[in-house]
Amino acid sequence: MSEAFEKNLASYSLKSSNTIGRKYKENPPKRRTEFQRDRERIIHSTAFRRLEYKTQVFVNHEGDMYRTRLTHTIEVAQISRAVARALKINEDLTEAISLSHDLGHTPFGHAGQDILNECMKSFGGFEHNIQSLRIVDKLENVYPNFSGLNLCFETREGILKKCNKARAEKIGDIANRILNKEQSSLEAQVTNLCDEIAYNNHDIQDGIRAKKIFLEQLEEVPIFKDQMVITLEQYPKLSKSKIVNETVRRIINLLVTDLISNSEKNILEQNIETPMDVKNCDRQIVEFSEKIKKESMTLKRFLHKNLYQHPDVKMMTDKAVNVVSNLFEAYLNDINLLPKEYLKYNLEKINNKSKERVISDYIAGMTDRFALEEYKKLYSDN
Ligand code: MG
Repeated sequence: MSEAFEKNLASYSLKSSNTIGRKYKENPPKRRTEFQRDRERIIHSTAFRRLEYKTQVFVNHEGDMYRTRLTHTIEVAQISRAVARALKINEDLTEAISLSHDLGHTPFGHAGQDILNECMKSFGGFEHNIQSLRIVDKLENVYPNFSGLNLCFETREGILKKCNKARAEKIGDIANRILNKEQSSLEAQVTNLCDEIAYNNHDIQDGIRAKKIFLEQLEEVPIFKDQMVITLEQYPKLSKSKIVNETVRRIINLLVTDLISNSEKNILEQNIETPMDVKNCDRQIVEFSEKIKKESMTLKRFLHKNLYQHPDVKMMTDKAVNVVSNLFEAYLNDINLLPKEYLKYNLEKINNKSKERVISDYIAGMTDRFALEEYKKLYSDN
């Protein structure tokens, strides 16, 4: 069945019919491919639903119009699929990796991750890519015959994306690619770049809506300015919000078309014919052209300086540090504060001196509002 669905894919695309497989053997799906099955398991997972209430840049309760991790994830999946289809690589696999790429994020975005990493410093640390893999491999607990989602090797390898050597050595065969310095699949490379396209552009929109950055400031950013000039030439009387929308729409289109044509060029230049060629290539294949790479970098730097480091956004960061570190400390002092069912499920790990990891998994799984409620519950009674 998989062969019929995947017969139009390019020779360098990964195929369900050639999958390395799943950890626990299962009968092949009848009317869909293995990678489709992965995608569907991810959408039906608990961790996926929780993305709705996790911070991207703005905390969920700051307003209904801002991106959350869930809407960000859907935008990444949409852009990735468009690129995958144009490159004739596996759309289902690309979508599965995209939909799970942020599952491991803590509440309160990067600030939450950094402080949880700090709390876990002496116990193996915390890193969201590794956590995404832990979720799909171990932490989801819904199927009768295995823990985790039992996804295909290729999906899991794409989810891991990257990690340092010391951590890779502990992870097992899924991290061999990193230890052997091999490239990731084209499907994973596409997801990675499309994540960047999605957040750079939606953060412009959200940042302007929140009045943390302004149109006038963005004129310093060449890629924005160029597209805004074209927009205004065509529509001189456009309202401010439509200028932003149209300019961002044009930037996304520019980035996506550049990514597709430059990657096609790389495929030809590097003689890429099989997934093995992709893996063994000494460079990444899915990349922007030099000019666009530079321009995209300038935009990224602008957002770092003006949005992510903005005092109001940093205030949220400080709050996250306080909530996450205090929750960690409270559970560490009294593990019985964790729900009974969760403790029962993790009893073996707790007895095996992995108490801190059990706590870290619990906190990482929290949504922003659940973390805030827990914090209030634990600290307002004292
Ligand atoms: Mg992301």
